[in-house]
Amino acid sequence: MQIHDKPNILIIYTGGTIGMIENPITGALENFGLDRFREIVPEMQQFDYNIEALAMDPLIDSSDMEPRHWTEIAHIIADSYERFDGFVILHGTDTMAYTASALSFMLENVGKPVILTGSQLPIGKLRTDGKENLLTSIEIAAARNEEGRPMVPEVCIYFDSRLMRGNRTTKVNAEGFNAFRSFNYPSLAHAGISIKYEPHLIIRTDEKKPFKPHFKLDDHVILLTLFPGIRREYVETVLGMKGLKAVVLKTYGSGNAPQRPWLADMLQRLSDQGIIVVNNTQCYKGTVEMHRYETGLQLLQAGVCNGFDSTIESSVTKLMLLLGEGYPVEKIHRLMNENMIGEISIGPIATNIPPYNPLS
Ligand code: ASP
Repeated sequence: MQIHDKPNILIIYTGGTIGMIENPITGALENFGLDRFREIVPEMQQFDYNIEALAMDPLIDSSDMEPRHWTEIAHIIADSYERFDGFVILHGTDTMAYTASALSFMLENVGKPVILTGSQLPIGKLRTDGKENLLTSIEIAAARNEEGRPMVPEVCIYFDSRLMRGNRTTKVNAEGFNAFRSFNYPSLAHAGISIKYEPHLIIRTDEKKPFKPHFKLDDHVILLTLFPGIRREYVETVLGMKGLKAVVLKTYGSGNAPQRPWLADMLQRLSDQGIIVVNNTQCYKGTVEMHRYETGLQLLQAGVCNGFDSTIESSVTKLMLLLGEGYPVEKIHRLMNENMIGEISIGPIATNIPPYNPLS
């Protein structure tokens, strides 16, 4: 893996609020072109880095983000991996946690920082949070440790002074600047007067393992949220989707569901058909423990897979990747129960990561 003396940073601009400016005639918010970025953020020139930027065409609101866009971003990173030391992805906040999760699985053994950021207020607005988010993300993407290696060789979201593991984040705020939280894993760094990194929490990639990007995703995955009064016909309709391969079941508390024989039967049938069902709690913090109550045990007995303390974004995108790889069902089951890239709190993924208690 090549590291350059002067950090080379690539900014990948996908769209979202951060790149918007008010049209002086209509007053509407519109995306401005890449050429105007340096003019709007002249501070960028003060970095002693080589900064290049490219924009996705067309720029999109992140509500329009789809798996094919993740493949496009993964290709951009893979194609320029040796030329650059760090990547900053400017992205709308709405689906940023999904993109960060997807990329964390797609960019296997990434040895360089991939930092996603955006803003709640357009960068062209006076009180914008976009400038700080962008400038600090660039600094993090270029940061090196005492050995001269990248400080944060993983896919992260930087937002409102916190650097978080990408596949642990969720958008929680549509109003305040603190749009993201990582409930089940601590922040990897905090930016104040200086940027304080937590090296013991950051993934150390094994440099002997080559960077291996994956580009195929399979979107035959659905989310099913339980709620009191959920009707059998509703569940039947959703689970009857043509081509269904995997379900993320959003259960209560520590992974519990109503004790209805029809529900257990339906889940058992899915399992018999080789359709994977993953148990994810509707709670933000804490983990799934299906053996804790009878209401959870019935799911375990019906062949449901444990989602542990994974975010919904992480479970959905991990399934898309594993299905895209075309793995047999047993292997997908096994990998869903393994910590692939720091997305769940079981088994350390690298020797320097201490066991983390999500309930503390
Ligand atoms: N709708 C916007 C987007 O996600 C919101 C934002 O960027 O904050 O693209």
